Amino acid sequence: MTAPIAFWLAGREATGEETFDVTNSWDGRLVGTVSVPTEAQVEEAVAAAHAVRDEFAATPAYVRAAALDHVVKRLTERTEEIAQLISAENGKPIKWARGEVGRAVSVFRWAAEEARRFNAGDAQRLDTDAGGTGRLALTRRFPRGTVLGIAPFNFPLNLSAHKVAPAIAVGAPIILKPAPATPVSSLVLGEILAETDLPAGSWSVLPVPNDRMPALVQDERLPVISFTGSGPVGWSILDSAPRKHVTLELGGNGAAVVLADWSSEEDLDWAAQRIATFSNYQGGQSCISVQRVIADASLYERLVPKVVAAVEAQVTGDPSDASTDVGPLVSEDAAKRVESWVDEAVAAGATLLAGGKREGATYAPTVLADVPAGVTIACEEVFGPVLTLTRAEGEDAAFAAVNDSPYGLQAGVFTHDVQTAFRAHRALEVGGVIIGDVPSYRADQMPYGGAKQSGVGREGVRYAMDDYTYERVLVLTGL
Ligand code: NAD
Repeated sequence: MTAPIAFWLAGREATGEETFDVTNSWDGRLVGTVSVPTEAQVEEAVAAAHAVRDEFAATPAYVRAAALDHVVKRLTERTEEIAQLISAENGKPIKWARGEVGRAVSVFRWAAEEARRFNAGDAQRLDTDAGGTGRLALTRRFPRGTVLGIAPFNFPLNLSAHKVAPAIAVGAPIILKPAPATPVSSLVLGEILAETDLPAGSWSVLPVPNDRMPALVQDERLPVISFTGSGPVGWSILDSAPRKHVTLELGGNGAAVVLADWSSEEDLDWAAQRIATFSNYQGGQSCISVQRVIADASLYERLVPKVVAAVEAQVTGDPSDASTDVGPLVSEDAAKRVESWVDEAVAAGATLLAGGKREGATYAPTVLADVPAGVTIACEEVFGPVLTLTRAEGEDAAFAAVNDSPYGLQAGVFTHDVQTAFRAHRALEVGGVIIGDVPSYRADQMPYGGAKQSGVGREGVRYAMDDYTYERVLVLTGL
């Protein structure tokens, strides 16, 4: 029997008393057996982070930037190995796993750059009235304290990077909790962090079981929680820790709108291709996956066959094969849930235009039209390779349809018209509007997050750095 994969406790390798297995959802093979920290070990990590917080906050920017540069270098060198691990633990096609490592590299690179320029401070003159004569205010940002970063399974490396990199950039200790299905790539990130000179105690990667998370969520030594995951878990964290600084990056049912001016053959071919790719990217297990396509009635009939053909051209199969577009979902249970939602819609009168089949954990890329309002797939986040097609009479109706959702993460609007772009920006209740493309576009430095039930707060390296810190003013007198 091989030794279990260690976790990272206050910057050093450790093992606990229990383990759990991580398996590949494509073929069921064992990816790794991961050691679970005991309660005492979790306490040790939290206490160490709390004790080192002032020292870490005072670490010079060049030291923190150098550590981040080191992560950039090592992730780059180890790209293929880590991509294989992500693909194995998550079921993600290898081409997307390589892309994920590339994005994590970019997150750490941005963080290194931002660490060098962050917090130079700002000055306000106070002698604008008599009481301020001879006074000056300087403002600088200081870490709020240790960050508890909780990551989901779908981008196991990059969404962990989005927690860890900004924390190091501002000098805030971080305790990273990876998802139970996909902890291995985050533990490899720990290997790389252990090669840096970051102070012991300033970081830990702890695969804590879900039933022990409420105690951590409520621990007062962890004043910042950065959570990415599902709505029910996210909102319950906010409810149970209302006085903490909590960021929630939650789900969505992303819409792609195709407006009347996006009507040439080339326009429709491009839209169909992007829609097909990004409703199936990661098996649809992306929070900004295309779930709803809302097309202007004037071009709906021309768009539909193009979308169906592009969806049917998606190659489903073994995630380790470089030609695979769509791998299995994270588990067979996840695929069964998607299947039941599609079946419910079809039973209620929806038309199945492609897909609708499950084999083990793999669900075929699926297109539904005429979906009755009120069925689950019309209201909730499907988190699977399924899109619904809806016709809208004009721009206002299309934008109203986008907003007719409890979620508001991102929306894509296919239009050439700059005035329409500005109207979309004003009208759509989402965290990001992507013009000329699907909602699934994300650059890691952009402010990223949701409106409505899609969350609170913003990620994106610089925005997370703001979130992990607060402004403190220094008033100088007698100048
Ligand atoms: P999940 O909510 O099941 O788990 C997320 C994390 O929370 C995991 O690490 C899990 O172990 C942990 N967790 C579970 N119970 C907890 C508790 N009681 N207290 C604290 N932590 C707990 O989500 P998931 O299935 O891993 O991820 C899928 C969801 O994430 C989807 O809804 C998706 O849309 C969302 N997501 C959002 C974004 C975004 O940036 N908005 C990005 C990716 C995924």
